[in-house]
Amino acid sequence: MTGRTVIVGAGQAGARTAAALRRLDQAREITLLGDEQALPYERPPLSKDVLNGGTPAKTTIFPLGWYEEQRIALRAGVRVVGVDWRAKQVLLAHGESLAYDDLVLATGVRARPLVVPGANLDGVVTLRTIEDSLSLSGRLTGGANVVVIGGGFLGLEVAATAIARKCAVTVLEYGNDLLPRIFGGFLGRYLSDLHRMHGVEVRTGVQVTGLEGDTVVEAVRLADGTAVEADVVVVAIGATANDELARAAGADCDDGVLVDAHARTSLPSIFAVGDVARQRTHWLGESVRVESWENAEVQAQAAASAIAGAAPVAAAAPWFWTDQYDRNIQMLGNRVADDIVVIRGDVTAPSWSAFFVADNTIRGAVLINAGRERRNVKRLIETRQRIDCAEIADAGRPLFSQPRAQT
Ligand SMILES: Cc1cc2nc3c(=O)[nH]c(=O)nc-3n(C[C@H](O)[C@H](O)[C@H](O)COP(=O)(O)OP(=O)(O)OC[C@H]3O[C@@H](n4cnc5c(N)ncnc54)[C@H](O)[C@@H]3O)c2cc1C
Repeated sequence: MTGRTVIVGAGQAGARTAAALRRLDQAREITLLGDEQALPYERPPLSKDVLNGGTPAKTTIFPLGWYEEQRIALRAGVRVVGVDWRAKQVLLAHGESLAYDDLVLATGVRARPLVVPGANLDGVVTLRTIEDSLSLSGRLTGGANVVVIGGGFLGLEVAATAIARKCAVTVLEYGNDLLPRIFGGFLGRYLSDLHRMHGVEVRTGVQVTGLEGDTVVEAVRLADGTAVEADVVVVAIGATANDELARAAGADCDDGVLVDAHARTSLPSIFAVGDVARQRTHWLGESVRVESWENAEVQAQAAASAIAGAAPVAAAAPWFWTDQYDRNIQMLGNRVADDIVVIRGDVTAPSWSAFFVADNTIRGAVLINAGRERRNVKRLIETRQRIDCAEIADAGRPLFSQPRAQT
């Protein structure tokens, strides 16, 4: 009998799981269920190009015809409300049940809401979907006072785009630094300076206590009693895993569905991939939910391989990028507290890199407008190749043009 795989969540990880599975198994029945109306799409452009007026169509992962050709039953606008792992069935919101042999949960995350008085005023928005991006884009009119609550990657990307749209932008961050957990705060300090240089008012160590306005937001009230004028408030304070289906079914969860290296959950024949999955990786040294484009791709491959009985996917060093102003910033691997920081290039120039090194081995790197070195650096991190710090620092010669034998 051909296997039946049902994938819940038609975002990036769901669509990529379907594609990878079809490549590995031509006979399998594959059904992709998603509660959004749009064809599966990638989200990174939503805070960048689409928010800046670009066309949303470019974010679509595969055209409609592709699903037909690949015999993947894509059902949009369909919400799954229950999983019965003993009967191997999912329950859809309109009452229909679907049987599966393997189930993949790719339900992603949702924006964490701001819980203060006034959070429901018009003009207070979050950014997760195409609709969110188009609606926010319409509010970024020249001269508008845009207040971004949360100085993480999403908030900072919105700030950069709002500056490009000639808005007056304030970023409010509760912590004393931006991105303190990313490479030990190294990148946060850089981005804070970059944003201030572009005219953003970056305020750290501030607590939002309420939003003011009649029906439309007019100001953000802070704990010190002051207020920041606002025409638009973008709440970017993190995300919560859509793990309710797995949780209700009895799978082990902890703000995300716990999975192993093959994306297997604690329940038989159920996998979880993408933002909703929490996995222990030796790269990050702890159990983490990685909200990144690359993680969605890698876990989709891992789940598809496990379902199809193909060779497992090799563990990859984490990679994340962000685009802010004229800077493409790529982050690879990780940093441990006592790593030496080796700078390659001039930190005041638009292009340079930082490497986090221990025992002549690169553990992590931040590449600023230096994406051309990403593959080599990633390989160096993954193979733990030993390399001299002087060689890393020498921006005059290409970095590691030849793959080397592992030591
Ligand atoms: C604005 C923005 C910018 C980003 N920029 C970057 C970037 O620059 N670099 C980077 O590496 N990453 C970036 N990311 C992160 C990246 O887009 C995500 O990691 C990726 O989308 C994760 O894919 P996913 O399939 O796990 O989740 P999603 O793409 O969120 O897909 C999950 C889907 O499941 C659906 N769903 C949920 N529950 C159900 C249910 N019960 N029934 C049916 N369907 C359901 C959801 O509606 C959604 O469509 C960005 C994310 C956002 C939001």
